[in-house]
Amino acid sequence: MAQLSDDCFAFGGPMMSVDEAVGLITARVNAIADIETVALVDADGRVLARDIAAPLPLPPFTNSAVDGYAVRDADLPQQEERALPLDGRIQAGGSAQAPIKAGHTARIFTGAPMPPEAETVFMQEDVRIDDAGNIVLPAGLKRGANVRPAGEDIPEGHVALRAGQRLLPQHVALTAAFGLTRLDVVRRTRVAVFSTGDELASPGEPRAPSQLYDSNRFMLMAMLRRLGCEVSDLGILRDERASLADGLKQVAGSHDLILTSGGVSTGEEDHVKAAVESIGSLVLWRMAIKPGRPVAMGIIDGTPLIGLPGNPVASFVTFVHVVRPTVLALAGGLPEPLLPIPIRAAFAYGKKIGRREYVRATLRRGEDGALEAVKFPREGAGLLSSLIETDGLVELGEDITRVEPGQSVGFLSYADLL
Ligand code: AMP
Ligand code: MG
Repeated sequence: MAQLSDDCFAFGGPMMSVDEAVGLITARVNAIADIETVALVDADGRVLARDIAAPLPLPPFTNSAVDGYAVRDADLPQQEERALPLDGRIQAGGSAQAPIKAGHTARIFTGAPMPPEAETVFMQEDVRIDDAGNIVLPAGLKRGANVRPAGEDIPEGHVALRAGQRLLPQHVALTAAFGLTRLDVVRRTRVAVFSTGDELASPGEPRAPSQLYDSNRFMLMAMLRRLGCEVSDLGILRDERASLADGLKQVAGSHDLILTSGGVSTGEEDHVKAAVESIGSLVLWRMAIKPGRPVAMGIIDGTPLIGLPGNPVASFVTFVHVVRPTVLALAGGLPEPLLPIPIRAAFAYGKKIGRREYVRATLRRGEDGALEAVKFPREGAGLLSSLIETDGLVELGEDITRVEPGQSVGFLSYADLL
């Protein structure tokens, strides 16, 4: 496992900005060094362990981009159209060894190799056939038109994918186009997930009248899996220092990250802090983020721990901004900064200076057709419905104190966050 020193997250200040916290974490965690080889069909979502240089050019050979008629340079009509007799027919997958006879044109199809010395293809829609059966080519087509030269997409030897790339379907397509069958990827990040709180019952178990079902654990595990992690579901820990400490101690060492939710505020019944301090070291950051605020970072036997707040929306938002970059850094992944898209606010809102806020919002088209963001009508950090009924988060930076309808704001879609 990636080992860390006990004091590596120490921080003296009272309130930490999101960027500071993320910078501190991602600079400190040790990337997983274990590499495994997976088949192409299993590569989606994995983090590439080594650069991939193109073993062949793409496309591998010069070919026609359209169904049409190929001509040699010397026969390209300049001022006037020309009627050329047919010589040959080249299909995709066929061969084109011999040059087209001078003064002739060859029938060619999309993806078929260009014959030697021919550099231009006329689209079939642009030609006509005269009474003698000759192909009449219009004047004025540029040399090289409708042809895809070998290597125009990616030249041979070009480093097309970098180590640390989290593979999406398009990256898998590229490696397949290179003819590769297996890829070296970073071992999956192993994450232990706990919920904390006496008020929680697991779905499927009896629920006392004063209990609610644990939802965070299932949300966090789903989010981790989407990031390619291998997740250990460790259930619910009671609000009691010793049993919390026991539970955490047992998984440290065999995981790359421990993730908890709840119990990190500074109330008397928030025991995560004391539990971690009894077996490792902990800093509790009051992060300048809403919803969110208290986020704990700790080290137990060299394994990093992140303690998220218990309120489901706070857990969601701090996961996106703290856990997601940490998981990427653990896998040695290239940073994937979240870039909010400018959109028109359809709401008024006031906020405190100096902290970043995420406003749950739904997208709609305004009367002029432009996209605008409508704020969810309520604000509670415990409202799961607010995450269900909205499309994403409007990000309001530290400097902003007021948003007026019509103003441009940055929007992060849930689809991009997960
Ligand atoms: P805490 O951070 O432990 O003070 O919890 C804050 C709020 O979040 C409380 O109302 C908890 O009941 C709620 N909460 C904590 N953990 C969970 C969980 N795993 N699922 C749903 N709600 C939770
Ligand atoms: Mg609690």
